[in-house]
Amino acid sequence: MHKIALVAISGVRVKDQELAQVGLTLPGFIERSRVISSLPSLGLLTLAAHVPNNWECTYIEASESIDPAYTRILTDGYDVVAISSLAARIDDAYHLADRLRKNGRFVAMGGLHVTACPQEAAQHADTIIQGEGERAIHACLKDFENGTTRAVYNSLQTPGLRFDFKDSKVPRYDLLNLSKYNRLTIQTSRGCPLNCSFCAASKTISTYKKKPIKHIRSELDAILKIWPDAFIELADDNTFIDKRWSKELVQLLSEYPFKWFTESDISVADNDSLLEALADSGCAQVLIGFESVNQAPLVSIDQNNWKARRWSRYIESIRKIQSFGISVNGCFILGHDGDDPSVFQKTYEFIQESGLSEVQITLLTPFPGTDLYHRLNREDRLFKETFWDQCTLFDLTFHPKGMSAEQLTTGFRQLMVDLYNPEATWQRKRAFAQQRRLRNHETNR
Ligand code: SF4
Repeated sequence: MHKIALVAISGVRVKDQELAQVGLTLPGFIERSRVISSLPSLGLLTLAAHVPNNWECTYIEASESIDPAYTRILTDGYDVVAISSLAARIDDAYHLADRLRKNGRFVAMGGLHVTACPQEAAQHADTIIQGEGERAIHACLKDFENGTTRAVYNSLQTPGLRFDFKDSKVPRYDLLNLSKYNRLTIQTSRGCPLNCSFCAASKTISTYKKKPIKHIRSELDAILKIWPDAFIELADDNTFIDKRWSKELVQLLSEYPFKWFTESDISVADNDSLLEALADSGCAQVLIGFESVNQAPLVSIDQNNWKARRWSRYIESIRKIQSFGISVNGCFILGHDGDDPSVFQKTYEFIQESGLSEVQITLLTPFPGTDLYHRLNREDRLFKETFWDQCTLFDLTFHPKGMSAEQLTTGFRQLMVDLYNPEATWQRKRAFAQQRRLRNHETNR
């Protein structure tokens, strides 16, 4: 039996110390950060399901120091170590890979960042996986057994490595110590056709595709067996693109006792029957990327100005979704080229007026491989060519256009305080809870 360790380097630390200090005191900010940092790596659990049967898998997380993972891997004697990491922790991932290779371990690396920066990653790994990993990991490990591993397994360029969701397997949730987590993730779709210029997730790994409902059922059944009242987070980029399939999905979810959360675009508000089904299915919250309260930055943010055309109906749509008892977590990015110093007050006022029950604000971040990164690089506006440890969504990495860097960072910090202080956080939650009670009262009459 061969042994593989699947290592997730997770957890993101804000570099801007002033902002970090402010964030640590804000309950509304801490809450979501806690949720994100306690999610297991669904990507690696999925790969584990596609590892050949004669391989034994172990899942390891390195959320703080990489040292415990390093020691464990050397002690337990794995044949192959597969490492995945976000951009913000990629230096730690490379460091771990370098140390393991010096000790004779065979290291494979994959994920979004590695896919975007293959030449960089190849300096630290024996093999890299670009794009989807399901078929690639299987091929790589079979090649390892035969001593014929390749330097690159690229599903984006190799038809034989492309993955079809009809071949999905249930992620290896059994590898997890469940007591460490407050929710589990499943993926029902991959990619997003909107192609926002700043979005690394939407197309780097795969074009948009949906998982067959019967496979999603198998995954939910597997979770039900190990965690009957789990909270489920759909690890999708944009769940409700195909409304007909979405209704089937929501119907399926309604058959389970789970509360669940997902990410969507605003078009979910167009469809009353979908909203009704969502409300009845245990959907606790949808996270929606509004990106800006101003229309100008939305023009050309995606290929067809889709978000710009939706902008005038943002508030109406939020109110409609929430009127069905579904909380909306609204995401706004600060630092677009069309933003000037008035954007902070406007964002605050918009959030107050809309009645959003939760909000997330982040700084515009040019992740490698995105159109945004290439444009800012061309315009010579990046502070540095590589700044991966600052891809935290809260650190400024480029010269903004409509204000100075100082104005952007101080305005952002103040907006965080205004939005995430205990009183503001409590008021948003209370207003939404009242709305939900009213709806429950109406529907029970
Ligand atoms: S709508 Fe969301 S998931 Fe889709 S491309 Fe834009 S940011 Fe990415």
